[in-house]
Amino acid sequence: MRYAVLADIHSNLTAFVAVLEDIEKKGGASEIWCLGDVVGYGPDPHECIELLRQHFHCGVAGNHDWAAAGKIDTTDFNPTAAAAAQWTASQLTQEDIEYLSGLPLVLRRDDFTLVHGSPRDPIWEYLTGIQDAKANFPFFESRYCLVGHSHIPLLFEYVDRLGICSYSQLSPELSLRSARGRLIINPGGVGQPRDGDPRAGYALIDTDKGIIYHYRIDYDIAATQKRMTSLGLPTPLITRLTQGR
Ligand code: ZN
Repeated sequence: MRYAVLADIHSNLTAFVAVLEDIEKKGGASEIWCLGDVVGYGPDPHECIELLRQHFHCGVAGNHDWAAAGKIDTTDFNPTAAAAAQWTASQLTQEDIEYLSGLPLVLRRDDFTLVHGSPRDPIWEYLTGIQDAKANFPFFESRYCLVGHSHIPLLFEYVDRLGICSYSQLSPELSLRSARGRLIINPGGVGQPRDGDPRAGYALIDTDKGIIYHYRIDYDIAATQKRMTSLGLPTPLITRLTQGR
């Protein structure tokens, strides 16, 4: 089976469409696994939810999803993110809100656990360092865990026998079977990358071959920015798309 792993779409419809087209070009996927934050920051929250729901998919809740749905409050958000969350909430239909509210915190598919932030704190924890990653391995049972939230493509590997956790950038092609230990994988962000590369990031998993492919693709960043400007969304959220930070 082939699965597309998408994290942090963040209402960026242009990036989302570009990723979906790229998936088709690469032979398609039988299911989309969405790692949360479908909405927040970008200009097209309703359209992104609608487009995602037109595809066979499963997904977990991100902090921005539940904030926009009114399920968590935004006091822990920075002022720009809070303003974007309030604007996002105003753009959603009742059906959108019910969809976002109903997203689970954790999902299990095949030998993969899906969460937004981390297995021990699915909504809020950012996994960017080895110590935090290592502490999270006891919190899931599958061999692999897929996370989003940081918008940075990363790979953590924990070898139980040695008690060693290592991390590296997620390579374009990774053999899951030849990994020595269990893995936590972040495919990067679709709609607001933060690793210095502004291109949209996502992953495709081929379970027959035991390979995860990581892709970065160009999309029309200026088109998304133009829409954000016309809607009066905060300037820092607009400029960061070009910087990929
Ligand atoms: Zn996010």
